[in-house]
Amino acid sequence: MNLTTQESPIISAVIPAHNESQGITEAIKKIAGILSACESAWEIIIVDDGSNDQTYQKICQLSEAEPRIKGIALSRNFGKEAAMLAGLEYAKGEAVIILDADLQHPPGFIPEMIDKWRSGAQIVHAVKLSRQEDSLVKKASAYCINQLISSLGGINVNNSSDFKLLDKEIVEIIVHRLPERERFFRGLTSWLGFSEAYIYFDVASRQGDESKWSFWSLLELSITALTSFTSLPLRIVTFLGFVTLILGFFVAGDTIMSSMKGQAVSGFATIIICLLLIGSFIMISLGIIGEYIAKIYEEVKARPHYLIKARVGIADRKLL
Ligand code: UDP
Ligand code: MG
Repeated sequence: MNLTTQESPIISAVIPAHNESQGITEAIKKIAGILSACESAWEIIIVDDGSNDQTYQKICQLSEAEPRIKGIALSRNFGKEAAMLAGLEYAKGEAVIILDADLQHPPGFIPEMIDKWRSGAQIVHAVKLSRQEDSLVKKASAYCINQLISSLGGINVNNSSDFKLLDKEIVEIIVHRLPERERFFRGLTSWLGFSEAYIYFDVASRQGDESKWSFWSLLELSITALTSFTSLPLRIVTFLGFVTLILGFFVAGDTIMSSMKGQAVSGFATIIICLLLIGSFIMISLGIIGEYIAKIYEEVKARPHYLIKARVGIADRKLL
């Protein structure tokens, strides 16, 4: 079967994969089986996000055996957000499902998501019920950051995941109308509005080796999430300024009173504490402002989100 005779897909599955060679074949076969049971016209687009193992070779083998399985290899590791965007840009389905390559997003829920889409939902969010595998620290930090983003940014990302079904119209908007470089996919899909539906799932245990996220990549994602949905931290800087101003007035009043009473101006310790306090307020404020400036710098440079070095089963976008 070649590309020109293949019927155009109704459902596309987009799967970002970074060093997933261990479990990818099994995962894709499982997903393909479930898609075939729902729909004959489907495609799977696996985005190899700069893996340095055999992931891309495995994708090529899968694609050779089943032309509905397609692959894109990014030129280096651009991160999951970029990999998902690459998949969305190439997906041709009427609905696109995004899920992980490690089977932690159970493909068994795909039929339910498709049903919700067929009954009118344009975005189907899969919400995490539990995540036993994560350490207490990871659970707690995820909870705090989600709470912070939800309350400051005004979008609900509590227990949300990247496991989603998006209607073609939503994919068009994400790809063409949201040109920002720094992306937080979960937040963006909640920000869009439109008709939404929810399904609930327990996060399965990871197939293959350990999680691909490092502490720093999670911290980076959290900062991106926060800075791209709210400028409230900048107001906190102003607030800190007022706090030190009031403190200053208080200390000045105390000093004047003391000198009027003829007492020597004392309080060496107070001065040191004030200096340290104000110094740290200034440093924190500069840090917060710096984060926003860094984000502006990234946006202004307007570099591409990702670069592609190889494709399998997919013609160039311009030819489609
Ligand atoms: N992933 C990716 N690029 C990265 C890190 C991860 O494409 O830089 C993919 C990974 O292959 C997997 C998904 O994103 O399909 C989720 O990653 P992981 O399972 O490591 O994260 P977690 O389950 O801890 O959220
Ligand atoms: Mg995972």
